[in-house]
Amino acid sequence: MGLNKKSVDDINVKGQKVLVRCDFNVPLKEGKITDENRLVAALPTIKKLAADGGRIILCSHLGKPKGEPKPELSLAPVAARLTELLGQEVKFVPSPVVVDDTVREAVESMKDGEIVLLENTRYRAEETKNGEAFSKDLASLADVFVNDAFGTAHRAHCSNVGVTEYIDTCAVGYLMQKEIDFLGKAVETPVRPFVAILGGAKVADKLNVISNLLEKCDTLIIGGGMAYTFLKAKGLEVGASLVDDTKLDYCKEMIAKAESLGKQLLLPTDTAIAKAFPNPIDAEIDVEYVDCDAIPADALGLDIGPKTAEVYAEAAKTAKTVVWNGPMGVFENPVLAKGTIAVAKALAETDATTIIGGGDSAAAVNQLGFGDKMSHISTGGGASLEFLEGKELPGVAAANDK
Ligand code: AMP
Repeated sequence: MGLNKKSVDDINVKGQKVLVRCDFNVPLKEGKITDENRLVAALPTIKKLAADGGRIILCSHLGKPKGEPKPELSLAPVAARLTELLGQEVKFVPSPVVVDDTVREAVESMKDGEIVLLENTRYRAEETKNGEAFSKDLASLADVFVNDAFGTAHRAHCSNVGVTEYIDTCAVGYLMQKEIDFLGKAVETPVRPFVAILGGAKVADKLNVISNLLEKCDTLIIGGGMAYTFLKAKGLEVGASLVDDTKLDYCKEMIAKAESLGKQLLLPTDTAIAKAFPNPIDAEIDVEYVDCDAIPADALGLDIGPKTAEVYAEAAKTAKTVVWNGPMGVFENPVLAKGTIAVAKALAETDATTIIGGGDSAAAVNQLGFGDKMSHISTGGGASLEFLEGKELPGVAAANDK
């Protein structure tokens, strides 16, 4: 397999202005970056282009400023941290409209190997609508375009898709290649047994990935908030647990599909329950553990129980390939993090290829200190899910074929 797209190894950037779309959408707290994985992941491509003598114009979105300049969502802290990480100045060229004459002048005066960073692309309302004017503005700055923003690859926006209409040479970066390689190999040519683990709260989003994964994997494990829709579909009382009633028939279909394909579909057999969702999320909470056929009508399920955790950890340990997306419970609360920790620990201990599908599962694994024990932690939650669903990612499709 492998990605059949032009990469940064296939282009000549010496003396060229290279617009590089990165995913610098990092969490910030009081102006400080609290998790810099996405910055670190972007370095190989930036270093390569700088070493090759390109004039590098970095761009990214950060958070949701909804089309207007929001100082707290400025990329200024990212420019400062990138300067430290690269050991080379990343000059921040801010503009409330991202691209204007000052920015154009700054870019025109760049020398080979220099790096600038534009302001948050979502300061412009057109960005998320893939509008023509902003796409053209961005394209007007550069001779070559490189997309290394895997985390946004499932969206068609100006800075990753629109811009490619106005620049002839469009390649993908090393991070994009690495992400697609890991995920692609896992689902297309996995070393078996291949176990997929799904959890988290976005039931409607994630239910769609199940159908595709069932065809590819040997065992599909369901935990987290989405499990209760399955349990209800099986006719169990789930009390006030998170349930998507519009997806009950779909869950029934998936249970039948697993059976007819001879695949193992594991659902929780016991669960942590409480009377109410913790508020704030990390508040002290009294929980009880019950079997899933004994959830009282006035309780809600907030984590997998210990029996389930053991079965899931065992299944993960016997796998040769594991893909995991979504926590097993409300892991932000220490009392409700036990299921997620058990699974993370099992993955950290196995020598299987372990791929963490971004978002909250990546945060959980890193928070628990297991980050360096995993084969690959994706920088894109939504993008990796859509890839696993078998969908084409517009941000990847827009690059030139090899
Ligand atoms: P997602 O963004 O879909 O990966 O969901 C992650 C969120 O799911 C986390 O914030 C968890 O607290 C939440 N979550 C996990 N299990 C449950 C549950 N049983 N009920 C409600 N929320 C849950």
